[in-house]
Amino acid sequence: MKKEMPKTEEEWKRKLKPEQYQVLREKGTERAFTGKLLENKEKGKYVCAGCGAELFNSDAKFDSGTGWPSFSGASENVGKRIDTSHGMTREEVYCKKCNGHLGHVFDDGPKPGGKRFCINSCSLDFKKKEKK
Ligand code: FE
Repeated sequence: MKKEMPKTEEEWKRKLKPEQYQVLREKGTERAFTGKLLENKEKGKYVCAGCGAELFNSDAKFDSGTGWPSFSGASENVGKRIDTSHGMTREEVYCKKCNGHLGHVFDDGPKPGGKRFCINSCSLDFKKKEKK
């Protein structure tokens, strides 16, 4: 089912939980080791908590030890852009469908791709794979 996309920040505020609003709309970062999907090892898809777009697959999830859910790859719905906030130059990742902030991507991930998508758990929902 298609989720209705909020048009204004007021609507986003009503739709999202406060911690989700802070991350997705205000580019906040959740505290490490607090996210509910950090230890999730089930097979399935990680979708945007804002708009439901498919973002990551469980096959790409790995334990980075950082305290945030980490993935070695992302779907085409995940965009990248340079973020120079907090005196650092980092590559931000966001949901292309709703423009929601997800986290950052770094170059110290597992081989062969070497990418580590470091994602706020609260910006994601998990859709467990249905058994056939
Ligand atoms: Fe989204």
